[in-house]
Amino acid sequence: MFDNLSDKLDKALHTLRGHGQITEINVAETTKEVRRALLDADVNFRIAKEFTNKVKEKALGQNVLTALQPGQLMVKIVKDELTELMGGETEGINLSGTPSVILMSGLQGSGKTTFSGKLANFLKTKKTKKPLLVACDVYRPAAIDQLHVVGEQIGVEVYSDRDEKNPVKIAQAGIAKAKSEGYNVVIIDTAGRLAVDTEMMNEISEIHKAIQPQETLFVVDSMTGQDAVNTAKAFNDILNFDGVILTKLDGDTRGGAAISIKSVVDKPIKFIGTGEKMEAIDVFHPSRMAERILG
Ligand code: GDP
Repeated sequence: MFDNLSDKLDKALHTLRGHGQITEINVAETTKEVRRALLDADVNFRIAKEFTNKVKEKALGQNVLTALQPGQLMVKIVKDELTELMGGETEGINLSGTPSVILMSGLQGSGKTTFSGKLANFLKTKKTKKPLLVACDVYRPAAIDQLHVVGEQIGVEVYSDRDEKNPVKIAQAGIAKAKSEGYNVVIIDTAGRLAVDTEMMNEISEIHKAIQPQETLFVVDSMTGQDAVNTAKAFNDILNFDGVILTKLDGDTRGGAAISIKSVVDKPIKFIGTGEKMEAIDVFHPSRMAERILG
């Protein structure tokens, strides 16, 4: 995960370790290299610039120049700032409703259906919840089949209605079923498209308004870099979602989405997907991620 970024940051910070006497110029050079590493990882230019300005300010404020181990102090400063940039604290999901309704949003292929299954499985095994999955993609019968396959795999009931073409009605019927049959979490999988378009946005917005979920999650493929951030902005403008799910972090992703997204939409990353299997889900911890990036 983020191997390239980790290598580059390591190299950038390494230069400070070798110096007997540290000067302001050394600090400036190091922060410039850190900025370059972030830009290479597809972090948005403004965010990279603000980030390195903060690091430089902190480094000079904390007397890196006279520190016994300036390299180590710099690593700590960068780690703390990265943690802050990725959200600071770990944030859970709101499961206060009876039932708690969780609406999944995102582009086609982002990993919504897979993640819906992972979350149902996670809640079922870890939190003694009884989830119901609801298939609201009325355009692709294969998407409904896929959710049924996932449901069977994890032993979670799936509600679908292949004759109903209005996703709002399917979502409402799913919630009604949950209420009458004692399911306490409803996870609603919706239709995505390959790119942001008005029809998809109108549809998800209608579902959102009609069911007023406790939690609206935006699922995004971490491999898509800057596009991930732009898509997040578009969905957030319409849905004001509660959290981000970053999928495919097991792949060869550069890291830009993970680092930039919180700061762009001001919404926390709540979970990450790290594989195709139903168990490949992790709660997102900003500090652990920063730790991983810096090694
Ligand atoms: P949807 O169209 O948003 O519902 O996306 P899917 O759930 O169908 O996922 C699209 C593809 O990405 C499928 O082949 C999934 O197996 C794969 N996928 C989903 N999440 C992950 C992940 O965290 N890691 C990897 N490697 N693949 C994933």
